[in-house]
Amino acid sequence: MTIGRMMTIMKTTMTNPSFKDGPIYLTSSTSISTDWQCGMKYWWYKCEGGNGIVPVEEASYFAEGRELHHDLEPYARGGTVGEVLERIPALDTVAPDQSRLELLSRRRGWATAFGLYIEPPLRKGHDEVSVEEEIVLRRDPLWVNHRPDRVQRSHATHGLRYREWKSTSSTRPEWVLSWAHHPQLHLGLAALEQELKEKVDYANVLGFYKGYPKEGKLLHPYIYAYRSPQGVWSSSYTYGWEKLGVWESPYSTEEWVKKLGAEGAQKTFIWSAPAFLDRRMVAQLLRRRAERQKEIEEIKSLAQVDAEVREDHFEMRLTQCRPAWGSACQYLAACKNAVVNADPVGSGLYVARTHKSDTEEQMTGDGE
Ligand code: SF4
Repeated sequence: MTIGRMMTIMKTTMTNPSFKDGPIYLTSSTSISTDWQCGMKYWWYKCEGGNGIVPVEEASYFAEGRELHHDLEPYARGGTVGEVLERIPALDTVAPDQSRLELLSRRRGWATAFGLYIEPPLRKGHDEVSVEEEIVLRRDPLWVNHRPDRVQRSHATHGLRYREWKSTSSTRPEWVLSWAHHPQLHLGLAALEQELKEKVDYANVLGFYKGYPKEGKLLHPYIYAYRSPQGVWSSSYTYGWEKLGVWESPYSTEEWVKKLGAEGAQKTFIWSAPAFLDRRMVAQLLRRRAERQKEIEEIKSLAQVDAEVREDHFEMRLTQCRPAWGSACQYLAACKNAVVNADPVGSGLYVARTHKSDTEEQMTGDGE
């Protein structure tokens, strides 16, 4: 079911008390994942003040994920590397801010390398089926919104393949294997199967390596390079060579990515293990989530005015506040600072979420 059709039905069911099958609970894989991480995080994001709140300053991993999807989308429509790079700000627009130069250099490098090394085999061996099209997995009373990044049909097998793009801090085997049982992929597979009325061969994720911080710099092959005393440039360090930003080299982004070649791309991209639809897992998950959404809908009005009810039904998972790996929770101030907690929006640190429903959400990054 497309989002337009779904919204029409939603309006009917939510405004018509005689709807024969009772209420519909609408959610998304992002919301489910947020609630699993921490009930209170779900509260802040989806319920506080009626529609949830978000930080005034967006967490960098959200912006990163959104930009990644924006940048790659034209490739599925036949776009070229040049056309894609034209949509991304030039490096001199953020100079001389080092951290912004690093992120923009990596962003331009990712988009370029994807076009040169990932897109050609995807395009050559497949027909496009959909690109970031929103669909709904409908298992009444629960409807789960989903937006698969790209769906293709293989020329070789005529089967469907579903892809997601994620930034990642890890390229270890654990990351590769973690996706085989990841609920986002399984919910997506189930939604696609329902929408397209056809089994999907598998889903997999392409990871975009983010690099790592060291001595005040973000080290990544598309961000920093080394220059010899004689002016030779390389991505590999040699004693006595100077470390400089790619933007300080005589190479454009495209020239640098080509200079690093397939070897550079191998250090940047990693495909996950395939996920094959696990119907039993999806059925269990949906049944449990339907119960949880029912609980949320029944309690959220009272929880707006009663802190104890809120704490009882939106449990704080305190190990998630500032985890050893990855970013601190974006609601840290809302939970830990008593003044902010009393009035998060009035504190100036948060604003009301403008999303009207789960239909506008999508999982963008790995949140690391
Ligand atoms: S700060 Fe901790 S308790 Fe509060 S929402 Fe974030 S993870 Fe949950």
